[in-house]
Amino acid sequence: MSFQSLGLSEALLKAISKKGYTTPSPIQQKAIPPVLEGKDVLASAQTGTGKTAGFTLPLLHILSENPKEKYRPIRALILTPTRELAAQVYANVREYSEFLNLRSAVIFGGVNQKPQVATIRQGIDVLVATPGRLLDLQNQGLLSLKRVEIFVLDEADRMLDMGFLRDIQKVINLMPDKRQNLMFSATFSKDIKKLAHGILNHPVQVEATPENTTVEAITQKVYRVAKGKKTGLIIKLISDGNWKQVLVFTRTKHGANRLCEKMVKSGITAAAIHGNKSQGARTKALAGFKSGRLRVLVATDIAARGLDIPLLPHVINFELPNISEDYVHRIGRTGRAGANGQAISLVSADETSFLKGIEKLIGEKIEVEIIEGFEPDPNASTEPIKPGQNRQRRNKPRNSNSNNSGGNRNSRNRNNKNNSRRRNDRRN
Ligand code: AMP
Repeated sequence: MSFQSLGLSEALLKAISKKGYTTPSPIQQKAIPPVLEGKDVLASAQTGTGKTAGFTLPLLHILSENPKEKYRPIRALILTPTRELAAQVYANVREYSEFLNLRSAVIFGGVNQKPQVATIRQGIDVLVATPGRLLDLQNQGLLSLKRVEIFVLDEADRMLDMGFLRDIQKVINLMPDKRQNLMFSATFSKDIKKLAHGILNHPVQVEATPENTTVEAITQKVYRVAKGKKTGLIIKLISDGNWKQVLVFTRTKHGANRLCEKMVKSGITAAAIHGNKSQGARTKALAGFKSGRLRVLVATDIAARGLDIPLLPHVINFELPNISEDYVHRIGRTGRAGANGQAISLVSADETSFLKGIEKLIGEKIEVEIIEGFEPDPNASTEPIKPGQNRQRRNKPRNSNSNNSGGNRNSRNRNNKNNSRRRNDRRN
């Protein structure tokens, strides 16, 4: 199948060919036709499948077909959970609309609102936004969603994880009832289905390659190791293998910082990316990693979500996630665009039950290796780490706000119930 046969306009085909895409990805083949027909779409797709172009291309096509007005109201709203994802989606919108007479903007928290407001004031057709800043500006009367024709909810599952449900509902109430809705989610929990039911109108359901197929393209390995020897082991693996581009996942923001410091001390260029870092610091870290200046990027799950880093050769789980599906998301960062990748997990005794859960989900046993000098502790307890708990800090008083960026969904949801949008802004 070609992009031409999908019925996209010449201006879009030109932009697609400038990007170097020759064939639509499976999610694009499945999602673009129903979106062009004006239907609501519920898509199961995670980052790396080409989902962004899957909704952006037909959306731009529809907007550019309709007569233009001199004063441009916001006609399409793309809502994303994180600032990074918003910035990436916006970059895509800009590229694909290069040869169209459409204007776009991106808004997210953590940065000055003035330039964002100035762009919106000039009139834009497409707005990419995170919920917090969108509602802030709306409350200040600085934007209106009354003319939105197409609404895209990207990474809906992560939106719910981050406690954005009420914000999403508020946003929906600000838009006209008659509109086209597109919802993308990597997973489909009961809550997601409920949300979809509330937003979408007789949606066409489309699915990208099942997650297991992604997993098959990746070499997975587990190193059983004593908890206290993980840092030494990860430094040894990266140094001995002379790995150049490694994404490392930790459960907590503090854990990410600590590990990063130790790597830097042992001569490995590294930066941490998580919710306590300023937007500038995160953008800089990501740019450094992409350019090859940094060998290691240490991230928490939420911070890493949606990062557009193609062809990542190595992903290391410094700690296993306690949600098995997060493991699939993490390792999906490697082996993208058809290239093979290696996913390594350092597993201590207290993570045994997480490993079992992951193996059950992916339907296979992961190869285990033990490195001399980094053996597991035979006396360590196999009792799992409690949700939101960081063993190494358990004696210190815990701030309910800190340290759970890569933590447990339930604890996040519980915490979120009574909290304000500002907290979500800080976390993502
Ligand atoms: P996404 O899942 O939207 O984050 O896209 C993942 C990566 O695939 C991005 O780097 C896109 O630029 C790239 N991509 C999207 N569509 C295609 C395509 N049809 N052919 C090749 N690469 C693509």
